[in-house]
Amino acid sequence: MRNEIRKIKIAVTSDCNLRCEHCFINKNNKIVLKTVDFERAINQLFMSPGHFKKIEFYGGEPLLYFDKIKDWISIIKNTALKYDKKYALFLASNGTIITKEILKCIKKENIFIAVSFSGTEKSHGYNRLFENKHNSYFLVKKNIKSFLKNSASNTFCIYCIDPNFVENMSIDFDEIINLGFKTINIECVCGKAWGEKKFIELERKMDEINQKILNLINKKIFVYHEKMYDLFSKTHNEQKICPFYQDLELYPDGNFGFYPFSFVNYEKEKRNIIIGDSLKGFNKKYLNCGYDPKKCQKCIKKYYYKKNLVDGSIALKIRDKKIADFCKFLIKNSSKNENIKNYIKKAIELNKSIYER
Ligand code: SF4
Repeated sequence: MRNEIRKIKIAVTSDCNLRCEHCFINKNNKIVLKTVDFERAINQLFMSPGHFKKIEFYGGEPLLYFDKIKDWISIIKNTALKYDKKYALFLASNGTIITKEILKCIKKENIFIAVSFSGTEKSHGYNRLFENKHNSYFLVKKNIKSFLKNSASNTFCIYCIDPNFVENMSIDFDEIINLGFKTINIECVCGKAWGEKKFIELERKMDEINQKILNLINKKIFVYHEKMYDLFSKTHNEQKICPFYQDLELYPDGNFGFYPFSFVNYEKEKRNIIIGDSLKGFNKKYLNCGYDPKKCQKCIKKYYYKKNLVDGSIALKIRDKKIADFCKFLIKNSSKNENIKNYIKKAIELNKSIYER
């Protein structure tokens, strides 16, 4: 294999204790990834070129199967050792499950836990409900405090924006910061119609959020978009836009694809979105094409064919552009502003630290 795989997302299970409004996963079939499929996928990741590898557990709710994850971390360790490579571990959770053992493991293994949280009770409750329709907001908020107390720098927020509450973004962002998060990953819901008005509102709100971050920098309080770590750092090559490089997913049944597991009706679409499986490997097309940006653009367009997901990807493009422009602005101003200079320096240090253990 000539093409590098930098990151793999492991959809541990289709099982979950929440019923988020935007989520398409069939939770009733409770599929759990087999260890043998996990092991093969990890091997593919480390075998591919490149020294730095990212592994992210998600689902469903991965912490329902924490014992499996613990075993799989040993597999990752051994494989990294075999190929003499560095790795970073992430785990995306709905934040409803916490135990002493989980907290201990996060610290010991330097796992970055990203909790889905929407800031205010109103925004959070719009989507993140238990099966009995109760809002998970207060439980998640309480657990986030414990995660932050356990390890503030390893606790990230996934702020998943639904087009129906894009107007709340500034207030939600304030709540997220006030709770103590220092790193926020703004995600945009796919599978829902956004529309022109919401895109314009999203642009405006991204500007407001970036201004808030800048105001904080000037008070020597450093808050980051998660994407900034890569953008400020040399371990990432922005030219590689192929999803094989950065958006590869292993689904709970052992198949590979690029679509986010929770945003697509997997049973209905799987024939169109699968690009291989852990046993037979990847479609040849993705192994050696050399990451030519022009070719990739055509290829990406063909792969992400679903109309309702296109809207979400436009929102994600707006987000990416706003963050990239903000980074460029900060870099440009870093020579004359000591706080910005320190802010960037800290981001690079933090990015390095994700590979330390
Ligand atoms: S989005 Fe995540 S937390 Fe929500 S129901 Fe789907 S899997 Fe569960």
